[in-house]
Amino acid sequence: MSYTLNDFEPLITRAKLDERLDQLGVEIVAGLDRGPEHLVVVGVLKGALVFMADLIRRLPPTITCDFLRLSSYEGTESTGTVRFDFDLTQPIKDKDVLIVEDIVDTGLTMSFLLKALEVRGPRSIKLCTLLHKPARTKRDVPIAHLGFTIPDRFVIGYGLDYEGRYRNLDHIAALRPV
Ligand code: 5GP
Repeated sequence: MSYTLNDFEPLITRAKLDERLDQLGVEIVAGLDRGPEHLVVVGVLKGALVFMADLIRRLPPTITCDFLRLSSYEGTESTGTVRFDFDLTQPIKDKDVLIVEDIVDTGLTMSFLLKALEVRGPRSIKLCTLLHKPARTKRDVPIAHLGFTIPDRFVIGYGLDYEGRYRNLDHIAALRPV
């Protein structure tokens, strides 16, 4: 079974995304307990691409950015086995790290990543995710900054893909119920 864009319907509009991103920017800055020059915003590719680009433009200009990419082994849902496809380019020791993720679904990926980065000695580490599907939680992860809680539906757009496509949709769309 393969889907096309017609099988999806709008779930979160561009206007709602913009409004929430404005609030998230304020929230993140208010939550910093030292200057933004210590903050490293870490985007998890590829899904966080669009969210991160829009979010960092709401943050002070002295932050720095880095990226990593994770991939899941087959059967990740049950085992939570995740590995780095590529890693950060800078050490994060004594830095304030803000992980930027597209969606926390089961929580297995972020649970892996938080543990993997914590051992590198950052001063603090927080997670900012655009979307959260609490109905699917297998591992609780502490979400410091959350865009939207969504129902258990497959979503695309604003960085999220279906078979590699639709990441460049400017809003979030969900697969229509059958
Ligand atoms: P978790 O480890 O929390 O189950 O999975 C997180 C990853 O699964 C996300 O980073 C994302 O790549 C993928 N994912 C989970 N739910 C969705 C969804 O509804 N749509 C898309 N496009 N990806 C999803």
